[in-house]
Amino acid sequence: MVRNYGDNCEIAAQASQGAIALIRTSGEHCLELLATVFSRPKALLEAQGNSVVYGWINDLHGAPVDETLINVYRAPRSYTGENSADILCHGGTAAVHAIMETLRKAGFEDALPGEFTFRAFVNGKIDLTRSESVMEIVSARTKNALEHAVKRLSGALEREIKAIRDKLLEAVSEAELFLDYPEDEIDEEPDLFQKAAEEALQKLKSLAVSYERERLYQEGALAVIAGRPNAGKSSLFNALLNEDRSIVTEIPGTTRDWIEAHTSIDGIPLRLVDTAGLRSLSSGVEFYKDAETQGISRSKNLIEDADIILYTVDASIGPDEDDKNFISDHINNSLVLVWNKIDLLETISAPQTEKNIQTAPVIPVSAVTGKGLDELCAVIGDLLKKKTQKISQQDDVTASFTSVQAGLGTQRQKELTEKAVSALEEALELAKKEESLDLIAPLLRESLNALGTITGEVSTADILEIMFSRFCLGK
Ligand code: GDP
Repeated sequence: MVRNYGDNCEIAAQASQGAIALIRTSGEHCLELLATVFSRPKALLEAQGNSVVYGWINDLHGAPVDETLINVYRAPRSYTGENSADILCHGGTAAVHAIMETLRKAGFEDALPGEFTFRAFVNGKIDLTRSESVMEIVSARTKNALEHAVKRLSGALEREIKAIRDKLLEAVSEAELFLDYPEDEIDEEPDLFQKAAEEALQKLKSLAVSYERERLYQEGALAVIAGRPNAGKSSLFNALLNEDRSIVTEIPGTTRDWIEAHTSIDGIPLRLVDTAGLRSLSSGVEFYKDAETQGISRSKNLIEDADIILYTVDASIGPDEDDKNFISDHINNSLVLVWNKIDLLETISAPQTEKNIQTAPVIPVSAVTGKGLDELCAVIGDLLKKKTQKISQQDDVTASFTSVQAGLGTQRQKELTEKAVSALEEALELAKKEESLDLIAPLLRESLNALGTITGEVSTADILEIMFSRFCLGK
């Protein structure tokens, strides 16, 4: 049977594993179902919410399966908002499988991915931004990333969006008031909605740019190691990660595709990518041409997306025309020139005279001996910090009526925020041209709906309430 989110059944799934495992169950009749396979059914059925009941899970023939503790939650005071029970059993696959099998026989369905959180949303326990932050917390790779996601879980983003939504509701209700009633019946100016709309727009714009900062904390910054074959990219990749994950070889062009690994610098997660060699193909071995061409085009895409480019040059050879061209083309893309293989030089002669190279930080390193790597990490850390600060400063410039409380955590939230921004901008543009409210009001509503979709709410009842509260008495 194919199940859907929103099915009204009793669900169960393993939620953690270790010395003790946790199996989570939820659903209106979850405790009754559980009682059919529990050694102390009466104790379970009579247990208060937020209490713990000791007992055995038995199979349908009464044979013991495992000794357990059951945390009992009663609707609406549970994670899902439904009756719910967490079974703490012995860890290890055998016990968990046996209990899950018993629960299925008792009538539980296997929970779909994220179904507990889905139910929490449906039952109004958390909004969509908090639901999404649950997943962010699970996948957070650094303490800072965790802090940012926890902020969203605690409702900072939800509150921020609600504050903007209230402003927008004000604007929508002002505008719609004049659509539905003749002007002489209302004691307000028809363009009053503009002030609220402009305030909402400022806040929305700040929120929209916050995503870049949050993305750096969550996904990590993308640092791409590029350079000609044999410059030492794979060696640098391994040296920065301190492990042998990339293939290091003396034959040019053997890193066929890109390889990535995750690390962190100064609390910001870093997605470090070792690209295929960016050399002109004419010198490539014929047999490998196709594979290399693909690798190179993918490398180029990665370079376009990079937050930082670590452009590696073999210092014992020096930069050639390709290197110089690349550097001058990417000088504004947070490019660091990694002046590698300094162990082969008698004196370190950094390329001081090269015009474009001078404007990028040049860090002399040896990927083999490790010299200069600490300095390189410090420069990467500074660049990343500057990036997050730059983004925060943008926030401050645009956020004039209060500073931004929280950032956007997902691409979905960002796209909806941008949708809200563009509809609102269009509305204000029309208002400037003194266009009719018939054209403006739907745009305001579109913006409001986009915002409501972020949190998963917005109803016309809200709008009506505000609208009528502004009516002259007796009308
Ligand atoms: P890639 O093609 O740019 O990925 O280069 P590799 O990392 O595969 O390195 C090419 C060759 O240069 C290998 O023989 C490496 O051992 C060598 N190599 C890389 N970095 C250094 C370095 O800092 N010093 C020395 N002496 N050799 C290096």
